[in-house]
Formats: sequence, structure tokens, C-alpha cells
Amino acid sequence: DRKPTSILYLDGVSVSFDGFKALNSLSFVVEPGELRAIIGPNGAGKTTMMDIITGKTRPDSGEVFFNGEVDLTKKDEAEIAQLGIGRKFQKPTVFESHTVWDNLELALNRDRGVFGTLFYRLTAEDKTRIEEILETVRLTARKGDLAANLSHGQKQWLEIGMLLAQEPKLLLVDEPVAGMTDAETAETAILLKEIAKTRSVVVVEHDMGFIRDLGVKVTCLAEGSVLAEGSIDFVSADPKVIENYLGR
Ligand code: ADP
Repeated sequence: DRKPTSILYLDGVSVSFDGFKALNSLSFVVEPGELRAIIGPNGAGKTTMMDIITGKTRPDSGEVFFNGEVDLTKKDEAEIAQLGIGRKFQKPTVFESHTVWDNLELALNRDRGVFGTLFYRLTAEDKTRIEEILETVRLTARKGDLAANLSHGQKQWLEIGMLLAQEPKLLLVDEPVAGMTDAETAETAILLKEIAKTRSVVVVEHDMGFIRDLGVKVTCLAEGSVLAEGSIDFVSADPKVIENYLGR
């Protein structure tokens, strides 16, 4: 049944590539202010699910609604970004030859176009916003440094900060802790929980220690649909999850 208050509502979403069902009647719901973890083996359909939500791929069938009644299957990628869905891909894509601050300034000016970026002067409000984002992503002390000189983990945080500059209502994050140090991984769990206080976040991850640190509801996908959903203890005790994912 439709959930008019859900931030994300997928029901019976299927998509095939050359006859292969990448998603097979996938259904799950994310509520406003929720942080949801998505796990599952390679090929489970996690990336395809993100592609469907962001309008990169059209489902063959099924419903995808955002923020109650917005039908995402009728919107293109640019419209969906404009609606307030941000996506962080696995690899960080920051401007290495710019400072941390300038990366955030560019992200804040993104909607102002080329001339906006060249000629727009930051307001006091913009500067406060950048300072807030720097605090959130643990980069205040590095704001004058070139992005190239950040650690891999800090680059991931910077890119999350650049997405926050767009004020997304829903943030999709793909394997953020891959390649991070243990300390960065632990900090990322705290950071994402803070971010989810003011928006919804869906995070796809393989790192089970990180998923445990998050302590949120987990959706385990396999073969294009939901295998199990609930707390990490509940999901990881499910024989189907052990067989399809954890036991591999
Ligand atoms: P995951 O992200 O969970 O590893 P994917 O969503 O990337 O899974 O892939 C699900 C399945 O769909 C895989 O078997 C993959 O090979 C296939 N697939 C995904 N995208 C395409 C595509 N554009 N063309 C053909 N096959 C695809």
C-alpha cells in the first residue's frame, strides 16, 4: 500500500538487461530522517537499484515514489537531482587541484551556472553554510589544503560535503568506507548518523563492522529482490542471508 509520508517507496520494481533480471520485484520503503543500510552479494542489484532511484535506468515495471507522491519513473536524471536526491558514487570525484574550501564553494555555486561560479560572491550566509559543512565532514582544519593532499577517507568526506551543499532530502551513498582506515570507517558511521538527523540516507556497504557500528535497519538484497530486512543481528541470523551472502 502507498505510504504518502515515505521519503522513498519502491514496490515491485523489475528491470531486465538482455533477458537477465537485475531487479526482480524489489520492494522497500525508507522513512523521512531514516538511515538505511543496504547489503548483498555482488550482482544482487544494489547499483541497479540506485540507478533506478536516480533516473539513470528506467524500470520495466513497478512503482518508485519519492517524498510521498512524486513518481520518479516519470522524471529524468536532472529533474530527480533537482528534487533533492544526491548520489555519492564509490570513487571520490573531488577537484584535486582546488582547496577543500573551493571544492565546497564550487558545489554550492553549482546551480548558479558558469557565470554564477565566476562572478558570484559568497554571501555571509554561504560562508556560514560552508563552515557548517566543514564541521560536519571533519575538514575544518584542512579547509585551506589542496584536495589532492587529503587522505582517501577525507576525500570521501569532502565529496559527501559537496553533496550536502546541494541540500538533498535523500542522500544515496555507495560503499563509502571501501579503502578507508579503521579510524576513518568508525568516524564515517558517526558522520552519516549526524547527517541523517536532517535528511534521509541510504548507504550501500559490504563492511559488516561498519554496518554494525551504524546500528540501523538493514535491507539485504539478493538476485534483485529483498532477502531479509531488520536489525543486523536479525538479518545476519537469517539462513537465507547466510547461504546467499555471509557464507560466501
Ligand atoms: P550490485 O551492485 O549489487 O553488485 P548490480 O546492480 O551492479 O549489482 O548488477 C545486478 C546484475 O545486473 C548483475 O548481474 C549485472 O551484471 C547486471 N547488470 C547491471 N547493469 C547492467 C547493464 N547496464 N547491462 C547489462 N547487465 C547489467
